[in-house]
Amino acid sequence: MELKNQKIGIVGLGLRTGPSLVKYLHARQAEIYVFDEKSEDKLKDSLKLIKDIPVHLELGRLSPESLAECKTWIVSPGVPCYKPYLVDARRRDIQTISELEFCTNFVQVPLIAITGSNGKSTTTALLTHILQGWKKRIFIGGNFGSPLVEALEKPFDFIVLEVSTFQMELTESIHPKVACVLNVTPNHLDRHGNMATYTSLKEKLLQNMVKEDIAVLNDDDEDCRFIGARTQATTWMFSWKNRKHAPIHVEDQTIVFPDRRTISIKNLNLLGNHNIQNTVAAVSMAVAIDCPKDVIEKQLQSFKGLPHRLENVGEYRGITFFNDAKSSTPESSIQALNALTGSIVYIAGGRSKNASYRDLADILKKKAKKAFLYGECAEQMKSQLLGVEVEVFSTLDNAFKGAVQSVGKSETILYSPANSSFDQYENFEKRGEHFVRLIEEFSKKK
Ligand code: ADP
Repeated sequence: MELKNQKIGIVGLGLRTGPSLVKYLHARQAEIYVFDEKSEDKLKDSLKLIKDIPVHLELGRLSPESLAECKTWIVSPGVPCYKPYLVDARRRDIQTISELEFCTNFVQVPLIAITGSNGKSTTTALLTHILQGWKKRIFIGGNFGSPLVEALEKPFDFIVLEVSTFQMELTESIHPKVACVLNVTPNHLDRHGNMATYTSLKEKLLQNMVKEDIAVLNDDDEDCRFIGARTQATTWMFSWKNRKHAPIHVEDQTIVFPDRRTISIKNLNLLGNHNIQNTVAAVSMAVAIDCPKDVIEKQLQSFKGLPHRLENVGEYRGITFFNDAKSSTPESSIQALNALTGSIVYIAGGRSKNASYRDLADILKKKAKKAFLYGECAEQMKSQLLGVEVEVFSTLDNAFKGAVQSVGKSETILYSPANSSFDQYENFEKRGEHFVRLIEEFSKKK
């Protein structure tokens, strides 16, 4: 793809992908156009990052004339592909592509791509940690960490990429050497409309793979099996449940491969069955690229997990606190509840993604003493959490107050929101940090 003196547009500036694209394009002498729906004031942090680079900036609304200035617009993952001006662009033969699609033109390093509804970041980080014990130059990024554009033209041994369905909307050419679909459960249906579209966006990650490539897929998941039956890639089907007929499976805390190779997963620092799934997936990918067994086993022992993912944030006055602020689906909160033992006081809330809370209700009935809900989704959640003792609040502060009043000694408070953060926070990190601050204040109170 020619960049020099070409007019290239970016839709949606954001804090990471947009500014990194601007820098990349500027270094290659492209003429850069940037459009964002937000106001200058709201974008001030992003604009600071590119203040020395000349760009044609259009804010608020993208006029048809400006749209036509560029033959190609690179669309940020936060902007849905069905926005009217993007539909209009395609109708007028103006290319709208994702950052991944743009980067695919330039990637020369073997790509390992991970997608799934839950566990992407943990698996991506774990695989990277494993590979770092073997090779020194591993790029980790994508939906998590640095955008892919930051890896281009740099001498990495491998690129480990977390891929979301948002990123796949305008992506066609991506071709991983190894790809993993961890699981497919309802998520982001507010944006993708229905499960069929959502699943096909996950499958799309594999669409250019050939027999020499390896697709690591969850044999316990019906949609993953469906994807496995259709891909051209060689499939490595894994089961993390006790299903010994799966080609890759777990026996006595040991992963067994079809050629009887084994990797021990004893004494992991990660809690919960869902993390066994993530571990089996990460190890399978490492084995698929011939990472040595001793490296894998050693690195597994030193991986501590990521913040805001079922993170034990301490014990104060006999109460143990878990911060699972990353959870934005009922499914991930179910995993968190399953991973913990003892009596749990549960805090959740945020903006609903229209997933059902009925399975969550079942596990809450078994494991939680009470649920404290807050935010936009609270009433909707309450109406589905039948048989669970529930109190509703407007904010996390108040839900937290209620929770600490009702919790007893040796019990656990779990904050696992099960909904997106966007009704009250910029992102999940912010709500997790807020929860940790509330714990700090609580710990100092007499
Ligand atoms: P993602 O990047 O896909 O959002 P993360 O690794 O950040 O996933 O984990 C987010 C939350 O999802 C975790 O806190 C945990 O509760 C839950 N989770 C993690 N892995 C899995 C999994 N394999 N299956 C179901 N839930 C999971």
